[in-house]
Amino acid sequence: MKFDTAAIHVGQEPDQETGAVIPPVYLTSTFAQLEPGQTRGYDYTRSGNPAFDRLGATLAHLEQAEYATVFGSGMGAVTAVISTLSSGDHVVAEENIYGCTYRIYDKVFKKFGVTISYVDLSNPANHAEIEKQKPALVWIESPTNPLLKIIDIEAVAKAAHDAGTELLVDNTFASPYFQNPLALGADISLSSTTKYINGHSDCLGGVVCTNSAAWNEKMVFAQKAIGLNPSPFDCWLISRGLKTLSVRMKQHAENALKVSEFLEGLDCTQTVRYPFLPSHPQFELAKKQMRGGSGIVTAVFNLPFESVVKLISNLKLFSLAESLGGIESLICHPASMTHASIPKAEREAVGITDGLVRFSVGIEDAGDLIEDLQTSLDNV
Ligand SMILES: *Cc1c(COP(=O)(O)O)cnc(C)c1O
Repeated sequence: MKFDTAAIHVGQEPDQETGAVIPPVYLTSTFAQLEPGQTRGYDYTRSGNPAFDRLGATLAHLEQAEYATVFGSGMGAVTAVISTLSSGDHVVAEENIYGCTYRIYDKVFKKFGVTISYVDLSNPANHAEIEKQKPALVWIESPTNPLLKIIDIEAVAKAAHDAGTELLVDNTFASPYFQNPLALGADISLSSTTKYINGHSDCLGGVVCTNSAAWNEKMVFAQKAIGLNPSPFDCWLISRGLKTLSVRMKQHAENALKVSEFLEGLDCTQTVRYPFLPSHPQFELAKKQMRGGSGIVTAVFNLPFESVVKLISNLKLFSLAESLGGIESLICHPASMTHASIPKAEREAVGITDGLVRFSVGIEDAGDLIEDLQTSLDNV
């Protein structure tokens, strides 16, 4: 079954009892048992609900995974994975990971004795660090946030496996429509379903996909034991959003390419990054491991701080907001928003400067988006 068909049908069969074409959502915390300890498959929603299973079945199929466990947010999924580590375990992470993932390692799990070191894994010469540091887990994102560096998933998976460890890829930015980390050798593909997978900016969710029965068991345990479960209604919403993932992603990518070409043509931009822009330093690698460039574009403006702030505050169609991956266009200033929790010196050392602006290009008309940008630029 092809991706577009699976996104609509897998796990989403009509309701057995009523024939409802869209399966109902069971808004219940608990389930009546037939006899003590004998359930109809569900006992308590923290440890399972039909809406979790339906969404999980669709996501597992789209990520080419055997198993998928859904969580209440992307950070819930992140917490579930890190919770499997023990005091004294070490993690090697790409230096350009999501700000809140950095924060949870630094402010929460460090207290429990989990250590982490950051390496620029976009440089193949640094893959040797994995063998040298012998981590319990390697953690990457590709494309990275917000610089859109591309990490060679296949090469890092090989380096991890040669060193006797495993690889997690945060696949949030690409979505399973454009990239399948497990097929490239990763052991875990994690996503914030809040972003492209739901796609409508109206709820939060997360997922961990894997082909490993051992990892699956740990994720199912974390979901119920730590209370990382999603709400059944949010799963229902995410299942609804997921049905249009293909059509949305095509339009996101088409619009993002147009917006990045427009930005690249301006005198006031120093650099413009988009994975499928030929000027991207890893354009060939992006084309090798991704089926499209997704919808995020970043630009470094050669403008004073105040002008950048004015430029992004005066847009009409791009809302100034955190998050990404929704149908509507958003604009964000990482240094003062998503990455504000990372100390300035560390932030700048990895390229998150004050002139950097991230665009989450929505599925509106590309001409309207470019006109909005031009109007705001004219006023700066
Ligand atoms: C948003 C995001 C997360 C966290 O997801 P939430 O749903 O906001 O908790 C993790 N990783 C990446 C790359 C993200 O963009």
